[in-house]
Amino acid sequence: MNVDDEVRGALAQIESAAALYAVTEHHISRYQSVLSGYHPADRDTYACARLDAILTRTAFDHRTECDGVGCRTCDGLHEALTVAVASVRTMLDSDEGRSTHD
Ligand SMILES: [Zn+2]
Repeated sequence: MNVDDEVRGALAQIESAAALYAVTEHHISRYQSVLSGYHPADRDTYACARLDAILTRTAFDHRTECDGVGCRTCDGLHEALTVAVASVRTMLDSDEGRSTHD
């Protein structure tokens, strides 16, 4: 499976989950127009930063109402926060790598 196939498979899953949470095409197109205002090279960074902020807020909120024992949401948040920390560190490392070569 190539990366495009994986992304399309992931999109189908994400769209199914979004529908369960009452996300409409109107919400999506509004955010797509925000993203189109950014330079193409900055869109992923902006979207990741937004997602990381939402994930972080959700994780702090969930911790106030759940002790984590046997909770699948906590398992998912553990995995998502791991990916978030790793991706931001990797982004910073590559930015530093780039600036030392300027
Ligand atoms: Zn939980």
